[in-house]
Formats: sequence, structure tokens, C-alpha cells
Amino acid sequence: MPLSPAGRRALAAATDAASLQQDVPLAPLTTFGVGGAADWYVAVQSADELAQVLRVVREHDLPAFLLGTGANVIVGDRGVRGLVIHNQARHTRLDSDTGRLWAESGAIVYPDLIEQAVSAGFSGLEHYVGIPSTVGGALWQNLHFLSPPPDRERTVFWEEIVHSADVFTEEGERKTVGVDYFNFGYDYSILHDRDDVVLATTSQLEPGDPDRMREIMDANLQWRAERHPPLDTEPSVGSIFKKIEGIGAGRLIDDCGLKGTRIGGAMVTHRHANIFVNAGGATAADLCALIEHVRAVVERETGYRLETEIDFVGEFAPPTDAAPTHMSKDPDLVSAEERARAS
Ligand SMILES: Cc1cc2nc3c(=O)[nH]c(=O)nc-3n(C[C@H](O)[C@H](O)[C@H](O)COP(=O)(O)OP(=O)(O)OC[C@H]3O[C@@H](n4cnc5c(N)ncnc54)[C@H](O)[C@@H]3O)c2cc1C
Repeated sequence: MPLSPAGRRALAAATDAASLQQDVPLAPLTTFGVGGAADWYVAVQSADELAQVLRVVREHDLPAFLLGTGANVIVGDRGVRGLVIHNQARHTRLDSDTGRLWAESGAIVYPDLIEQAVSAGFSGLEHYVGIPSTVGGALWQNLHFLSPPPDRERTVFWEEIVHSADVFTEEGERKTVGVDYFNFGYDYSILHDRDDVVLATTSQLEPGDPDRMREIMDANLQWRAERHPPLDTEPSVGSIFKKIEGIGAGRLIDDCGLKGTRIGGAMVTHRHANIFVNAGGATAADLCALIEHVRAVVERETGYRLETEIDFVGEFAPPTDAAPTHMSKDPDLVSAEERARAS
């Protein structure tokens, strides 16, 4: 649905007129790097500006999507009709008496927020080093990671540090909510089901030993480097499918011999069976075809139906109609699954 002329005028008035742009390519704003352009695009620099734009969006019933670092979204090749709001609201404030860290929802988790907390001697965020995310994205997904080392006995979740949040609700109300509002689960928060937007959050951190926090950060970065494709050379969107309790989506994909499977420019990396990479020139249609292929093989071979954990945004062309090929593995590479079996 295109933006109405009245909506466009109201948006231009609500933002710095120069920042409302047309036909902005979205692929460079996502970590997988595919997809078409946004018909309309605005970058917001503060929580108040974000609220102002959302007020116009609600008043004029404009189609709109909020983008963080684009680490969990795939944009369709035909682009996004309507408005993409790019969240660059990044102001933060740490109260060292209470350990409360207030951050606008576009604040970058790593390195910005983590470095700020750890340098001031506050613990709670250090587990999430190396994960591309805004604070808003972390709440949407309930960001999680297996930490702390060396035991990695449990998954830590973002919900554990949420104290409260400033939210612009789907009804157009701006209000402060507590952690319970989000109804957090695995890969889930209420933000999946309500058109609410987080403007800012307050995290409750605890005093921590800086040496131990640095140790956790180093170990987690190394753990990731050994198991995940590096974003700068092998772009990805992190895990594609949701965890299957006690089994693991990656293990099922690996057991079906699907690592190295490629359609167009999208490939199941040999490093980690649940991570698909843009191996060069991929389109969203390639990735969707690969997802469907992997899902079909796993269901046929194991009976499990995999569900994606990523967000699909905009208009998609039909999945690429090409037979999958197989890329062989570098013999020196030790995959995440091989490491897990050896430990
Ligand atoms: C290399 C790599 C490694 C990863 N590792 C992990 C990992 O270990 N653990 C993990 O949990 N995830 C991981 N991910 C996934 C990803 O980092 C997280 O989901 C992250 O929280 C996404 O944040 P974002 O700002 O990029 O959100 P985006 O991808 O930009 O948006 C995702 C969704 O959140 C919504 N959203 C964003 N901001 C707000 C807001 N302020 N209010 C309401 N909704 C909002 C968007 O509208 C969209 O629907 C990984 C991804 C990559 C690429």
C-alpha cells in the first residue's frame, strides 16, 4: 500500500524534511545483504523523533516497518511498499549508583552498550559480545546465548536484565511497561504479536568483576569465531531455524547431509548447519528456495518440521526454481557439529 499524499506531508513535517527519502536500497542495511528498496525511508536519531514518526504513522494509518541492524530480517527482492523507519536513536545513560542503564532502542548492543557497562564495572550484558543487534531487536527476539564459559550450562536471555521500557503501543499510546509486559519466551516477545515499538529501555545491571567479564567476552568471541561464519566475508542472518528442544535444528540438517547445499548465491555453510550464508550474489528468492529445500528434506528424512526464526519483510518474488548443488568442504575446517560431537 503506497503512502497517501497527506501521510507523506505529515511525515515530512514530523521529521527533518531532508531525511525522508524515496527508493532507498535495503540490502546494505541488513546483515544477509539481499532484498529490494523501501518506497519510503526515514532514519530517526532519538526516541522522541521515533515516537513523533510513529504518531504520524498511526494517525494516517501508514504501512511502516522498523529496522534495527537488520540482523534478523530478510527483505523481499521486490522491496517494501510503505515506510521503513531506520532506528538510529542511540543515546544512553548509565547510573553508576543503581546499575541502571537507560538506552534508546536503536543503541547498538556490541560493542557500544557492552563496552560502556563493562568499563564501568557492571555485569549482565557481557555474554552477548559479537551479536549484531540493537536494544529494540534484542527485546523483539529475547536475545540469547549459551554462557558463561567454561561450563556453558545454560542459555542466558535478554529478559534477565530488562527492568522497564518506554513503548509506543499499537493503539498509539506512549507508556512505561515492566518486564512482564513482554511475555518473553524462547525467540519470542509480545512484539511478535503486537504492533508495539520500543522507544527506550532501562536495564538493571549488577556490579561485576571487570577481569571476569573480560574473560567471558574473550571466550565467547572465540567460541563464536570457531563456529560461526564471519559476517564481513560470509554474510548471514544467524540461525535460520528455531531450536528443537533436546535435538537441535542444526543437528537434523547435518544428519541429512545438507551442509554445503547451495541454491543460487545462498548456501548452507559447512561451518554450522543452521546458518545459511550469502556466498555471493544471493537474492531473497535464492534463500527462500534453500529454506524450503532444507525444510522439505529434513521433514521427509526425520519427520521434524523446521520453523524459521527470522522476520520476512516486504514483497517476495517466487523462490528460485533451480536444482540445489553441493559445495565441498574445506578439509581443514572443523564444523560446529564436529566440535559438539567431540566435546
Ligand atoms: C552473525 C549473527 C549471529 C547471531 N547470533 C545470535 C545469537 O547468538 N543469539 C540470538 O538470539 N540471536 C542471534 N542473531 C540474531 C540477531 O542478532 C538478533 O535477532 C538481534 O536481536 C536482531 O536485532 P536487530 O536490531 O538487527 O533487529 P532487526 O533484524 O533489524 O529487526 C528484527 C525484528 O525486530 C523488530 N524490532 C527492531 N527494533 C524494534 C523496536 N525498537 N521495537 C519493536 N520491534 C523492533 C523489527 O521490526 C523486526 O521485526 C545473530 C545474527 C547474526 C547475523
